[in-house]
Amino acid sequence: MKKMVVAIDGHSSCGKSTMAKELARVTGYTYIDSGAMYRAVTLYCLEHGLFKGDAPDGENLRKALRDIHLSFQTNPETGRSETYLNGRNVEKEIRSMEVADKVSPVAAIGFVREEMVKQQQALGREKGIVMDGRDIGTVVFPNAELKLFVTASPEIRAQRRLEELTAKGESTTLEEVLHNLSKRDRIDSTRKDGPLKKAVDAIVIDNSNLSISEQNRKVLELFEEIAQK
Ligand code: C5P
Repeated sequence: MKKMVVAIDGHSSCGKSTMAKELARVTGYTYIDSGAMYRAVTLYCLEHGLFKGDAPDGENLRKALRDIHLSFQTNPETGRSETYLNGRNVEKEIRSMEVADKVSPVAAIGFVREEMVKQQQALGREKGIVMDGRDIGTVVFPNAELKLFVTASPEIRAQRRLEELTAKGESTTLEEVLHNLSKRDRIDSTRKDGPLKKAVDAIVIDNSNLSISEQNRKVLELFEEIAQK
């Protein structure tokens, strides 16, 4: 079977990462969470006082970007890939509501995207990769062999995200989560560089009424169909 690049894009909290991780697990591919990279840059900005109101100070962030080193390592206990910022495991911190609230303005900055896209393309050079995000099928890997665009209704996405955050001990409400998701989707879809949009050749999966196992089965079928061609 040929080695492929699988690009999974879609709205915030629509189950992209659940889908991508499972596909990577069953195919032996590497899973890369591109959102984690933007989240880690945002965490760096928060920790270094780079925010001026809702957005980071562009000039200071441009200088700081060369001091931001991102990597992924597999946790031997869980088998999950975790995000490292300058050698520190930040997997928990980057999932907080504080980071979620600030990440889209950071991800809208052209030079931040340019750097992240460069690193993401390098990670996919050898293929055998499943990457999820917003611009993976349109900008990062426009020649990906399999492109999926995932969506679900905003209420269902917010409910799932709330359950995830509550399980992690974060105290928030459905309204707060819904507000954050709509705000991120709006900023992500309307920005100039790498906006969230469906690649023309992407297959749409609306998982509002799909169970996780139904979704996984569907994606694996699509993968096998293309891999055997
Ligand atoms: O996927 P996740 O929700 O963790 O992504 C967090 C944020 O990072 C998104 O809301 C978006 O602003 C940004 N992002 C992006 N491009 C990507 C992945 C994520 O702009 N490829």
